[in-house]
Amino acid sequence: MPRALIIGSGVAGPATALFLHRAGWDVEIFEAAAEPDAYAGLFLNVATNGLAVLDQLGLRERLVAEGHRAPHMVMWSSTGKRLGTVPNGPAREPERGSVVVRRGILHRVLREAVHEAGIPIMFGARLDRVEQKDAAVRAIFADGRTATGDLLVGADGVGSPTRRHIDPGAPALAYSGLVGLGGFARVPGLAPTPETQHMVFGRRSFFGYLVREDGEVYWFASITHPAADRAALRAVGADEWLATLRELHADDPYPVPQILEHATGEIGGYPIDDLAHVPQWSRGRVVVVGDAVHATSPSAGQGASLALEDAITLARCLRDLDDHAAAFAEYQRLRQPRAEAVVGYAQAINKQKRVTKSRLGIAIRDAMLPMFLRKARDDTRNDWLYNHEIAWEAGVGGRR
Ligand SMILES: Cc1cc2nc3c(=O)[nH]c(=O)nc-3n(C[C@H](O)[C@H](O)[C@H](O)COP(=O)(O)OP(=O)(O)OC[C@H]3O[C@@H](n4cnc5c(N)ncnc54)[C@H](O)[C@@H]3O)c2cc1C
Repeated sequence: MPRALIIGSGVAGPATALFLHRAGWDVEIFEAAAEPDAYAGLFLNVATNGLAVLDQLGLRERLVAEGHRAPHMVMWSSTGKRLGTVPNGPAREPERGSVVVRRGILHRVLREAVHEAGIPIMFGARLDRVEQKDAAVRAIFADGRTATGDLLVGADGVGSPTRRHIDPGAPALAYSGLVGLGGFARVPGLAPTPETQHMVFGRRSFFGYLVREDGEVYWFASITHPAADRAALRAVGADEWLATLRELHADDPYPVPQILEHATGEIGGYPIDDLAHVPQWSRGRVVVVGDAVHATSPSAGQGASLALEDAITLARCLRDLDDHAAAFAEYQRLRQPRAEAVVGYAQAINKQKRVTKSRLGIAIRDAMLPMFLRKARDDTRNDWLYNHEIAWEAGVGGRR
C-alpha cells in the first residue's frame, strides 16, 4: 500500500488524509501543535462549495449542527443606514448558503473523522526539512524524529516549510493593509440574527457580527494598519486592542459599541496576508495544498472551502493517474486558476474594507453601495464561487 505523509492538521491536512485513505493509501498526519486547540483562532465561513466537499465525507450535517447558518449578509453604513443584502451563497438558492462555525469545531469534526478512519495523527511533530532520495521522501522533524513515505503532502498553512522545499524562491506573503481582530461576546438584550451576518462600514474600521440562537455573538473587525513591524503587532495584548477598537467604533451604530463593550477573551490581532500566485505546486514526491499554496484573505470567506476542494481533487488525481508526477501536474492544472481567481476576488473586497478618511469618499460609497447591493441580491455573477462541486466518483484524466 503506498504511504503518504501529511504535514499539518488544520483543514486541508485531515481532509486530504480522509480522501487518500478512501483511495487506498496508508496515511499519517504530523502536526506541529502539541495538542488539539479547542479555540484555534476565532471562527470562519464554510461556503456552499466547502460544504459540498464535507458532504462527500459524510460530515456536512455534523458541522452545520454546530454552526450558524448565514446565507445572507446585511450591509450597514456608519450612520446606521441599511445599505442592502448580499447573498453568502448562490444568489437564487439562499437555502444552500454558507455556515459560520468556530474554527476549533471544524478542526474537531475533521479530527474525529480521521480517528474513526483509524488514521494516526502525531502532535508535537514540527516539520523542519524534507529530503527526497530514490523512491522515497523523508520528513525530518524539529525534535529529530523522522518519517518516510512515498509522498509528502504539505498542508502546513501560510508559513509552509513545504512550499519553501519545493521552491526556495517561492513568492512571499503579501500584506493586504488590514489587521484582523475578532472574538466572542454576550450582549444583554441583543436578539439572535438567524440566517444572517451583519457587516458595518464603520467610520474608522470595518465590523462584522452575528448572534447565535443562544445569544453568543461572533464578531470581527478589520483595521486599516501599516503593520510594518509584525513582531510589535504580535506583542499587543487583547486589552490594548479592545481599547483601540472601542475608540475606533465609538460613533458607530448599535450594536457595534455594545458588542465591543461586552467582548471577552482572546481577540487575535493578525496581519491579513495572501499568496496570489505560486508558480510551482510540487517537486518530485512533494506537493502542497490549502493556504500553503494559495492563501486568501478571510474577506471572501473561502480559505477553508478552497482547502477542502484541494483535498478531494488531489486524492482523485492520485487515485486515477498512473504516477504521482502526472497526478501532481493534473492537480495543479485543475486547481490553480480557480484558487487564484478567489484570491483576486478577496483582494477586491479588501479594497472596500480599507477605510477612507475622506468624508466625500464615505458619502459616495454610501450613495453607491445600495445600487450595487440591490443588483447583488439576484446577481448570479458570484455563483462561480459557490456552485463548484467536485464529485469523488468522477474520474480524472479520462477515467470513469
Ligand atoms: C482569523 C481568520 C479568519 C478566517 N476566516 C475565514 C473564513 O471566514 N472562511 C474561510 O474559508 N477561511 C477563513 N480563514 C482562512 C482559513 O482558516 C484557512 O484558509 C484554512 O484554515 C486553510 O486550511 P489549511 O489546512 O490550508 O491551513 P491551516 O488551517 O492554517 O492549517 C495548517 C496546519 O499546519 C500546521 N503546521 C504549520 N507548520 C507546520 C510544520 N512545520 N510542521 C507540522 N505542522 C505545521 C499548523 O499548526 C496548522 O495546524 C480565516 C483565517 C483567519 C486567520
